[in-house]
Amino acid sequence: MDSPAPPVRSHTRFAPSPTGELHLGHVAAMIHVWGWANLAQATVDVRIEDHDRQRCRPEFTDRLLADLDWLGFAPVRGGSLRLQSQQTDRYDTALQRLQQAGLVYACRCSRRSLPAAPPGGEVCYPGTCRDQDWPAGPDTSLRVRLPGMTVVFHDDELGRQEQTPARQCGDIVIRDRHGQYTYQFAVVVDDLLDQIDWVIRGEDLLASTGRQIELARLLGGTAPSAWRHHPLIVGRDGRKLSKSEGAPPLRELRDRGLSAADVIGLAACRVGLQPTPRPCPAAEVSRLLAAPALRE
Ligand code: GLU
Repeated sequence: MDSPAPPVRSHTRFAPSPTGELHLGHVAAMIHVWGWANLAQATVDVRIEDHDRQRCRPEFTDRLLADLDWLGFAPVRGGSLRLQSQQTDRYDTALQRLQQAGLVYACRCSRRSLPAAPPGGEVCYPGTCRDQDWPAGPDTSLRVRLPGMTVVFHDDELGRQEQTPARQCGDIVIRDRHGQYTYQFAVVVDDLLDQIDWVIRGEDLLASTGRQIELARLLGGTAPSAWRHHPLIVGRDGRKLSKSEGAPPLRELRDRGLSAADVIGLAACRVGLQPTPRPCPAAEVSRLLAAPALRE
């Protein structure tokens, strides 16, 4: 189904998960979020995605906020700072809404009991518990029944996209076996309630977009109308830069004497936005996103 509304680009967000320290990959994401938002005079929220209490730690949140501050990035044009861990009520309410619509069921499957993911792909849930009517309990996750729509959206960076979540991932887990709301669910509820109309994030999340649009529709809301999935910094192995691949935390770069502008310039260079690591202060990141012909 095509979204009929013309895209609006007035309100976006930067939504890091505090599962470790920030590194250059996060700075590349900030350049895209604040850079595009500043060009469009859009509002930017900072949303700390700490819904998963198993993996997120408050000290990482503190560190992350200190790093953002040091770099010079903050909510702008009326944007807010929110922590998912402080707004569980909104996820409870959204869950109830889906339950009342008969769209939620309890699932007893463990990761190991599911078919293996194809190479480079993801597990598509075969619907094992869909019609079992299990009671929800401490050992069950909750899944939402996907009606199986094909979602079409335009990506500002990658062009027309068509996804059928029911065939990619199957019914989505919205609350896991530990009672934690999942990323896919929390992000959709927040984007709806915070009236986000423009999502700017890494291209590793491209496959999540169709299912997030479908979930937003099941919740009776309007999904963001504009999407941009930007390139990532990759490590020597060609995979997304990550802490486990040895990306140094920003703290370490700062301790080596790099300034915030040096770090931003370095991230811009590593993500292909400029040929040299020329320093760039946070307030000027839009200039890194000018049309390729205009880049230095
Ligand atoms: N929290 C997610 C991450 O750090 C990003 C979520 C999003 O932008 O939708 O990868």
